[in-house]
Amino acid sequence: MNENIVMFDKVLIANRGEIAVRINRACQELGIKTVAIHSTADSDAMHARIADESVCIGPANSKDSYLNIPAIIAAGEITNADAIHPGYGFLSENEKFADIVEEHGFTFIGPTAEHIRLMGDKARAKITMKECGIQTVPGSEGSLGTNYDEIHTVAESIGYPILVKAVSGGGGRGMQKVENEENLISSIASAKAESKAAFGDDSIYLEKLIERPRHIEIQIIADTYGNVIHLGERDCSIQRRHQKLLEEAPSPALNSDERDIIGNKVVNAIQNLGYRGVGTVEFLYSNGEFYFIEMNTRIQVEHPVTESITGIDLVREQIRIASGAPLDHNQSDINFSGHSIECRINAENPEDFRPSPGLVSGYHPPGGPGVRVDSALYQGYIIPSYYDSLISKLIVHAPTRNECLMRLRRALDEYVISGVQTTIPFHLKIMQNADIANGTYDIQWLDRNKDNLK
Ligand code: ADP
Repeated sequence: MNENIVMFDKVLIANRGEIAVRINRACQELGIKTVAIHSTADSDAMHARIADESVCIGPANSKDSYLNIPAIIAAGEITNADAIHPGYGFLSENEKFADIVEEHGFTFIGPTAEHIRLMGDKARAKITMKECGIQTVPGSEGSLGTNYDEIHTVAESIGYPILVKAVSGGGGRGMQKVENEENLISSIASAKAESKAAFGDDSIYLEKLIERPRHIEIQIIADTYGNVIHLGERDCSIQRRHQKLLEEAPSPALNSDERDIIGNKVVNAIQNLGYRGVGTVEFLYSNGEFYFIEMNTRIQVEHPVTESITGIDLVREQIRIASGAPLDHNQSDINFSGHSIECRINAENPEDFRPSPGLVSGYHPPGGPGVRVDSALYQGYIIPSYYDSLISKLIVHAPTRNECLMRLRRALDEYVISGVQTTIPFHLKIMQNADIANGTYDIQWLDRNKDNLK
């Protein structure tokens, strides 16, 4: 590490669950003390137990605790933290939070509020990326006005089927598929209502619906000195209702030339933007073409598959960059080794994906070569019903994709979580499928095949 850089003494982790545990690990390995925050429902949660200090910031409901900005700032002040790490979800892409954190004298471990704002407006993000030389999904230029004649003309010029998308959208919400002109206005109305309810903003835009694409995203890291590198791609095409369930790196669909070309384009665009921190540039990939859909300005759930094949600790890098350290890798230092797959394990009924909170009466995580479990579970833990149902991420790494699939099956078989239902049986089922074995799937694959998986 550069000798002139002063690393943080204490970091407040403004999150819960497995990502709070993950960030705590990175801090401790850097010699940084940690402060957890927790709601009243999480006093026994793992993230609150393993941090050096833990502060209760409010009642169970997220809006009163994990989204409660004044309470989080106060927790930082009373514990004398230097920096705040937002994790993913909650306040991680809230530009107001990033601003307030900095105004109160803490370092926000992430990009500038301005870049969060830019990428949070998905219509503006597309225009910006296009200006930086990145191909985008054909669609309306910016958000739509209220003139229905104009909207019809725009839709006509894009060509049906189209997607109505929320400018402030996230997690697949505020998205409506429109097959033909007749349904356009009613779909716009439902997308607006859904987006208003979820994000407090009903601006929408239109996009061509790409048939059977893959979701391929490029991981980047940028320091505050203009150095940018990419860490290759993740393929996140196994999705249910636009929610990712399994991710792998490298993508079975790309060759190394394609990876270099798209990676370099993304690096140039990020350099033009003057972005800092980690980030993910998401594309739909179809017939050899990449179409930008959005950029996430935070650490992603699926970041461990990239860590597995590059050997780079992304959370550690985030913290180092925020402390002012320069990147200690050049693009030519980055080598991709082997194959990695992550399964998102949710406390849900594996048939209908309904949440299954409650007491974890037994717990035995898998181990052995190439197996990593990022989780906040322990025997006796009561999974609260208030939050996301993601309880564990099983990540395996092996020299080849085939070995990786074999290892994943073995590790899923070993994994015991009793007392609640989990999606482990679902993952075991899809592991039996020939399309998964061959790597021939797209983002609609799961919806088309869900009945054959039984
Ligand atoms: P969110 O922020 O809600 O996750 P995204 O723009 O990232 O929204 O889209 C989420 C998912 O929806 C994508 O991974 C993909 O599966 C699907 N999707 C988005 N845009 C399109 C499109 N134009 N055509 C087909 N599928 C799309």
